[in-house]
Amino acid sequence: MKDGWLRRRIVWYLKRQEVLQAHKRREGSCRRCGACCSGCPFHDDKARACKVYRMRPDICRMFPLTPHDIRNVKTCGFRFKKDEDDQEEGFD
Ligand code: SF4
Ligand code: SF4
Repeated sequence: MKDGWLRRRIVWYLKRQEVLQAHKRREGSCRRCGACCSGCPFHDDKARACKVYRMRPDICRMFPLTPHDIRNVKTCGFRFKKDEDDQEEGFD
């Protein structure tokens, strides 16, 4: 997803603790919908697969990093359990 590309990198490299905290509440599994890969040169749109899957970077393996990443992604198989501090159900 091109729109979140820069934001995700800022979160990943500068707010790693935020990611690790969010992952404690993450549940589900990848459905291989490809929504987090659109626009990536390594994504095979026809096969709906990553061409470098075994070597994909950690930032890809960790998607969604935080609830924000899937706020508008209905097809993602991951969800975040509600946190006591959350204002909205299930999201930051
Ligand atoms: S490297 Fe692979 S997993 Fe990462 S965004 Fe590209 S296609 Fe997706
Ligand atoms: S958006 Fe979610 S389900 Fe779809 S490929 Fe990415 S991690 Fe997997």
